[in-house]
Amino acid sequence: MVDVIKLLPDHVANQIAAGEVVQRPASVVKELLENAIDAGASVIKLIVKDGGKALIQVVDDGVGMSETDARLSFERHATSKISSAEDLFNLKTKGFRGEALASIAAIAHVDLQTRNATAEVGTQIKIEGSTVVSQEIAVTPKGTSISVKNLFFNIPARRNFLKSNQVELRHITDEFQRVALVHPSVAFRYYNNGSELFNLPSESFRQRIVHVFGSRINERLVPVEEETDIIKISGFISKPEFAKKSRGEQFFFANGRFIKSPYLHHAIVAAFDGLLKTDFHPGYFLNLEVNPASIDINIHPTKTEVKFDDENTLYAILRSTVKHSLGQFSVAPVLDFEHDRNLDTPYAYQNRGVVLPQVTVDNTFNPFAEVKTSNKRETPYTKQNVEGWENLYAGINSKDFSSVEFESEGNAPQIFESKDEGSQKQQITFQLKRKYVVATIKSGMVVIDQTRAHQRVLYEKFLQDITVKEAVSQQLLFPMELNFTKEETRLLLSIRESLSSLGFVLEIHDEQIKVTGIPSTMTESGIGMVLEELLKDFSEGYETEGFSQAELMAKTLCKSLAIRTGQLLEQDSQIALVNDLFGCKEPNLNPFQKMTFITLSSDDIDKKFN
Ligand code: ADP
Ligand code: MG
Repeated sequence: MVDVIKLLPDHVANQIAAGEVVQRPASVVKELLENAIDAGASVIKLIVKDGGKALIQVVDDGVGMSETDARLSFERHATSKISSAEDLFNLKTKGFRGEALASIAAIAHVDLQTRNATAEVGTQIKIEGSTVVSQEIAVTPKGTSISVKNLFFNIPARRNFLKSNQVELRHITDEFQRVALVHPSVAFRYYNNGSELFNLPSESFRQRIVHVFGSRINERLVPVEEETDIIKISGFISKPEFAKKSRGEQFFFANGRFIKSPYLHHAIVAAFDGLLKTDFHPGYFLNLEVNPASIDINIHPTKTEVKFDDENTLYAILRSTVKHSLGQFSVAPVLDFEHDRNLDTPYAYQNRGVVLPQVTVDNTFNPFAEVKTSNKRETPYTKQNVEGWENLYAGINSKDFSSVEFESEGNAPQIFESKDEGSQKQQITFQLKRKYVVATIKSGMVVIDQTRAHQRVLYEKFLQDITVKEAVSQQLLFPMELNFTKEETRLLLSIRESLSSLGFVLEIHDEQIKVTGIPSTMTESGIGMVLEELLKDFSEGYETEGFSQAELMAKTLCKSLAIRTGQLLEQDSQIALVNDLFGCKEPNLNPFQKMTFITLSSDDIDKKFN
């Protein structure tokens, strides 16, 4: 039989390796930044164009390379960082696999210029898809500059798979921040399409966090310090009251490397136990230093997943250290080990005060009239669509609602049962488990999910406000100043028009915005949260999912502003919600395609009694 096994040519092997190492432009950024750090740079410049698709360039003032090293650096398994397997147990550098440059050169156009301290002139090498196009002597400063152009030029499938420039840029910024945070003594500059996104001087860890995330974060940070035989922990956690709904600001660095560890993350969550509302996530920036021999970084080519020797002990130390910091800075209640947790009030209710159940009987109530505006402050829900009631039939042809039996009574047909068939019609509704609103209808009853229903109502309202641009704005007595990062304010600028059609009046500066008017549907205290949610959703990119800006904005807002489960609704709020829901164009589903109500016919109920 003929032998069939062949060794793959280098350029093929490199392309395969590239598949693992380089997923997107951000992966190139990570590798190049780490090489610059390993080269001992004190100033690193990152320049990208079109989300890194057109250009990624990293310029450093590190040790540079000799002519031979420059050529060798593109060979696979060529590294100056380790020379034996034992070295793997004592890693002090970011790189060690010697495959990043070879992989990148296999799938892009690379231009390297480098000079070390002893050489008078440097070297320039150009490589396209693993082929060296030219190698020349070059006059260049000490250090290294690598530009990577036309990423995936020879793998169209990968190139087409890339997301919009905005989304790719977001990923690059994430990688940049991870590297910049853990090397605060190194100065960084980062440009996109010619404009400066970050300019970070050499500074302390705390200053670096503030420079990256904006000055508003400073007051939120609580220091964490601990040193034991097996681990040294240093860094900051964010005060519980500033916890976020997104998981953005969570950073573990192990021996100077950003890592992901769901297990250790859980240790932090456990330390915050009882201090966070449901769905809120703690923020943390923690440096963990362990003996390099006790950590395995080589379990994945991107090196963000790691394995610690004694994870259980690390978990326990981390948890108690964070708990201690929370206690010491009196951000946590005094620790009480005898305390019976079963007797605790669920956190979400702690700050709410006592709400007395109200029984209101109003015989003169007329459901056809608009809800009194005087109730606006006391009830969490007020009527949105004035014409809601008249539009009740809108939903009647749709699938879910077709089971509602509808009888015409003269010229004033009703779907909802009336207590009194005279001119004073009392609509019957009640709230179930502070989660559902139940209303009786001719054929039986509807059970409405209050959150989803309100999301639908708000969604349609916001969408209309944005497109028709007639939203009412309430002027703030005292303008509100909110701090954001440059990147965030840039994002806000890009959605400014939709924001103003909603009723926001904003002055957007470099790292601060001044709010002078807000939509009439929102309260002043919620604005910061709403803007943060918007930034989060928009930075994740709407273009790729095929949503328009208006749609995404309406979705985000309805999600953050809708009444929640657990919120008590008085009778008139319940009725207003029911009316508004059925006044919507698509009452059956919330904006996230979940059912808003179910119907239960009296036949269904009768059957249960058989
Ligand atoms: P690794 O970082 O795993 O060693 P790379 O492919 O990233 O592998 O780099 C190969 C080698 O090229 C490095 O070991 C280093 O000697 C050299 N090198 C890469 N980038 C730089 C740089 N910016 N400055 C100096 N040397 C560099
Ligand atoms: Mg490297």
